[in-house]
Order: sequence, then structure tokens, then C-alpha cells
Amino acid sequence: MAQRRPTLPPALTRGHDHHQCVHDALAEAERLCAGRDVRLTELRKRVLELIWASHAPIGAYAIMDLLRGEGRNAMPPTVYRALDFLLEQGLIHRIASLNAYIGCSHPGDRHAMQYLICKICGTVAEIDNPAIDDAIATTTGGLGFAPDSQTLEVSGTCRDCRDAAR
Ligand SMILES: [Zn+2]
Ligand SMILES: [Zn+2]
Ligand SMILES: [Zn+2]
Repeated sequence: MAQRRPTLPPALTRGHDHHQCVHDALAEAERLCAGRDVRLTELRKRVLELIWASHAPIGAYAIMDLLRGEGRNAMPPTVYRALDFLLEQGLIHRIASLNAYIGCSHPGDRHAMQYLICKICGTVAEIDNPAIDDAIATTTGGLGFAPDSQTLEVSGTCRDCRDAAR
């Protein structure tokens, strides 16, 4: 197994080229779906694009409102099906503590569900630190517990917001 190293996302810095993020995310989604022979329908793609509008999570009802504003049929089952598809394909993540979604910045790679959530600007950054996984594996293993999945959500204040408060 390849050695994973901690990843720190560029998303934590304000003023990064977000158009590039969106462009890359959509191109990567098209590529992954084509490779897996699954359909990134127009609606699924639009939902992904709306989620990628920023690095702050967006809830399902906010997505429905935006879609309706575009004159689309955005009934909850339709939108939830699109969200389920994007989740299954690893293109988005659900932030449980906020009941909202963010775009995945490295879909296609297996990675830990570890998030830093800024309570001021709302930015969510994905981190992937294998040392955290190891600590959980050791702890659960020691208790004879077999984990299926794990998610770590750390709430706090990002560097930009801390700088701005100084
Ligand atoms: Zn961005
Ligand atoms: Zn991800
Ligand atoms: Zn912030």
C-alpha cells in the first residue's frame, strides 16, 4: 500500500483562483464518470457546480431553491437522487454536523473523511492525515471494535479569519 502523507488543501487560503477549482472539479468529474461508465447527467453536473460555488457547504434546500430559480424541476426526490449519485461517486462529501455538502477536491483517490470547518467564513477544508487513521485503528482495534467508516469534523477558525480579526 502506498504511503499516504498528510494533505493540506489550498482551499484554506483566501484569494486562490476559485474559477480554477471549479473548472478542475468539473473536468475531473466528467473524466471519472466516463471512466466508470456512469452518467453525469446535466442535472447532476449542475448540482455539482452549485456545490462548488464556494468552499462553504450548501444544504439540499438551498440547492433546490437555486435550481428552481433557474426554472428547473427541483423536487426533493430528484435533487436527493442527484446528491446520492455525487456522494456515491465520491465527487462531494456530506458534512454531517452542518447537514450540507462540499465538493471533493481530490475525487478518485481514497482518502480519509477529515474536515476543518471555519465557523466564521464557513470554509471547509479537507485534510487527509494517515496518523489520525492509525490512531483510530489502534484505539478501536484495542477495544475489539471493527469500524466501518469514520468522519472527523473539526470546528474552529481558519487562518484568514484569524488574521482578519487581528
Ligand atoms: Zn476554490
Ligand atoms: Zn474528498
Ligand atoms: Zn474562515
